[in-house]
This record gives sequence, structure tokens and C-alpha cells, in this order.
Amino acid sequence: MNLVYRSTRNGEETATASEAILKGLTNDGGLFVPDTIPKLKVSLEDLQKMSYQEIAYAVMKEFLTDFTEEELKNCINKAYDDKFDTKEIAPLVKVGDAYYLELFHGSTIAFKDMALSILPHLLVTSAKKNHVKNEIVILTATSGDTGKAALAGFADVPGTKIIVFYPKSGVSPIQEKQMLTQKGDNTYVIGIHGNFDDAQTGVKKMFSNKNLAALMNENGYQFSSANSINIGRLVPQIVYYVKAYTDLLKQGALKAGEPMNVVVPTGNFGNILASFYAKQMGIPIGKFICASNKNKVLFDFFQTGEYDRNREFYVTSSPSMDILISSNLERMIYRITGNDAKQCAAFMNALTKDGVYKITEEMKKGLSEFFGGYATEEETAAKIKEVYEAHQYVMDTHTAVAAVAYDQYVKATGDKTPAVIASTASPYKFTRSVMDAIDPSYDAESDFELADELNRISGVKVPKAIEEIRTAPILHHTVCNTEAMETEVKKILGI
Ligand SMILES: *Cc1c(COP(=O)(O)O)cnc(C)c1O
Repeated sequence: MNLVYRSTRNGEETATASEAILKGLTNDGGLFVPDTIPKLKVSLEDLQKMSYQEIAYAVMKEFLTDFTEEELKNCINKAYDDKFDTKEIAPLVKVGDAYYLELFHGSTIAFKDMALSILPHLLVTSAKKNHVKNEIVILTATSGDTGKAALAGFADVPGTKIIVFYPKSGVSPIQEKQMLTQKGDNTYVIGIHGNFDDAQTGVKKMFSNKNLAALMNENGYQFSSANSINIGRLVPQIVYYVKAYTDLLKQGALKAGEPMNVVVPTGNFGNILASFYAKQMGIPIGKFICASNKNKVLFDFFQTGEYDRNREFYVTSSPSMDILISSNLERMIYRITGNDAKQCAAFMNALTKDGVYKITEEMKKGLSEFFGGYATEEETAAKIKEVYEAHQYVMDTHTAVAAVAYDQYVKATGDKTPAVIASTASPYKFTRSVMDAIDPSYDAESDFELADELNRISGVKVPKAIEEIRTAPILHHTVCNTEAMETEVKKILGI
């Protein structure tokens, strides 16, 4: 029996896994959720003996039930290969009292690689399974990391084009250069005058524009999404939480069945939701510590039950978390309404219309395993410096936000359960902020010189992803206003 995926906004709209991957969003603008979260069929004991790829198969086969074993294993093996600079794929590193789950060993040195290295293969396989003849156009809004990871994943994949929109002045110089130097005949990168939410709203509008969909179809195209709302992004992210738990067992930090806590620097709520799904699958997890930066809409939500995006937007040193509309939270909202699509749709419509909604006390109980924390810019920088000085371990700004929230959690609760901190980017991706935090006197140099300086103080090799873009030519030049996003897409497709 195939697992049924249903819209968070309309109980009638269902899909198989491959259909959900192809579509990204549902027809009514909702998100696909599986009717139930399946259980892992492998024991904790046996999981410990498995490679990353084997764990990936054990997890993903439960969700992608209409993929054959051969199809899924093929996708996994194409994704988690020597694009990653370690066989472990996602190593767990103990630093002080915490365990850092390093999710940045892929080709673009941030955690988006964990899912975006496999999504193109899942998508092409899904297209084949569903007899899709149209060329697939991936449309993505990025706050920095998704863009490059998606471009790298889709570049020159036959039967696809990828168009990435990013906030022109909302990403780091290295992030921007990574995107603008992207090769591949099917890749397009466009800066917009606006912030990430503007970019995301523009993309969502195009996805739900029926006239545009018809025009595309006439011309042999159809949209799909690589954003973290796609179930094909979410499911691969469950894998590394399963792997982290087995590593804690192997390192003797836990006995089988004892819980770990997880701490996740959060933006769109995809990564932390994946950890929540890992628990539903059977992995013992105690608390989910949701870390925000100065854009602390989620922190406030966990405090009050009110989600309110009507507030000032800050550009911070952790730009991949500079988000006011946390898309994947919708899946959690749906769950805590008791899978009531009508009620969920009402909340989401209120969010679109008024920018705010408030959940009921009853619903709030469904969030009792979550703890919200947030870090100011000063706290983030101080954390990077503190851990560097105490342990010579250099972390990036996003990871530091999580480390601060973890301290807040321990202070508030005294809970010393072993905690896994999702380490979402290499410090080399945010070199300037990281070096500024450690010693601001480095400030005068270029970002690449700073990378060399970071290499000198940390002893960690400069990743290939940085070396490659040092001298690479800029290949993408388009910048537009938010109103012109659709026009730019039509221009690219010649329609
Ligand atoms: C995308 C991203 C995040 C936020 O992850 P979500 O799944 O959107 O919550 C955190 N850190 C980095 C480095 C990222 O790229």
C-alpha cells in the first residue's frame, strides 16, 4: 500500500510520493503531508552497523513508497558519493559538552546539500514514473544557501531548467559569488530588489498562477519546486538525525532507548521538522530546541502562540535564517489542529491577509516538545569566539545561533540530556562574520584572504567550494524588481 500524501489546506487533494515530489506545492497552495509518519523497520542495534547510504534507504523507503528499491538506491548512490569530502557524509563531532552534527561536507559547504544533492534524482525519477513529457522548470527563492545548492544539484541534469531568485543585498559576498559563477546551460540566477520573503512570495505567486501554468504547458514546460516545502527535500533530512543517534550510541554517550535532544538553527522550519519526523519514526528524541536569530518570529510564536510577521525585518550575520514566513511550520500547524485542513487553511489565509494568526491553547499542547531560543548578533559573535578560544573549534554564524539557544535551554531547564547541534554551514561560507567575531583586526582584507587567515588559525583546509570560485568568472548579470519576476521567467523560457 502506498503512503498517501494530503494537502494541509484541503483534505480531498491527495498524491503519491512521486506526485508530491513533482508538484512541490498542492493545487490550493498548501503543503503535502503524509497521512501517517511511518515507523523505521530496522532496530537501533542494526542501524548502528549501517552506512549513511544504508540508513538513507531504510528511512526514505518508508516515505517514498512508490519508488522501487532499485530506483531509490540509485538516487541515494548518485547523491551521497564523493561530492562529500568525508565518507561519513555527516560526521558528529564532540566539542565541550555538545555534539555538533556537521551537515556542511557537501559541494556547497552548507546543509542544503544534504537534500539538494538527491532531490534532482528523485525529481527526474518521479517524472519518469508519472510519464511527464514536459521539461521541468525549477523555480526557487533563496536566502543564500538553497540557491547555490540547488544550482549545483540541477546543473546540466537533462530535462530540467533551474531559475533562482535571491535578495540582491541580503546574501554574503561569497554566497553571491558562488551563485553568479554557476556553470551549466540550464542555470539562471536573478537578483531582486527586495528581501527573501519578497522573493519567496513572488515565486509562490507564479506557482499558483493558473494562466501561467497553462501557457507553460502549451510550450512544453511545467514548474516544480526545490524549496524546502518539497517533500523530496524534507525526507532526506530525516536521515542524518537517525545517523546522529546511532553515532551517540557508538560513542557511548547514550544507551539504546535513551533520548537525545536536538538543537536546530531555524529559518523555514524544514530541518527541525525533519528531526521531529525522526522521532515519530522511532528515534528517541527529548526536546527540539528551535533557535532563531534577531528575526525571532518563531521564538515569539513558541512563547505566545501568536505567529506575527508584522515586524521589522533584519539582515543579520546568519542570513539563511533571515525569514519572517517560516513555510514548513504549516505542516506542524496542520498536525496540531488534528489534521484539520480547513482550520489550517484559515490560519494560513489569515497569515497572507493580516500577517498574523493565533493558535488555540489546545493546539499549543501539541508543541510541548519544542523550546524556542534566540541569539542577538552580539551573542552570536561572542559564542564563536568563546568556543574557538576554549576548544579551537570554529563554527559558522548559524551554528553559533543554535549554540546560544542551547545554552539558554540548559540554563532554563537544567536538562543535561546529550544534545546534537545541527551545524548547518562551514565557517568558510561566512568567513567575514566568523573572523570578525574571533578578531576584528582582520577586517581590512578580502574575503578570500580572510579564508586563508581562517585556515591559518583553525588548521581546517580551505574547502574546494571556496577555492573554485576564487578566480571563476561571473556568468549571471540579471537584477530586477519584484514585480518583474514573472516577466524574467517568461523571457528565459521564450514564452
Ligand atoms: C537554510 C539554512 C538554515 C535554516 O534551515 P531551515 O530548514 O530553513 O529551518 C540554517 N542554516 C543554514 C546555514 C541554512 O542554509
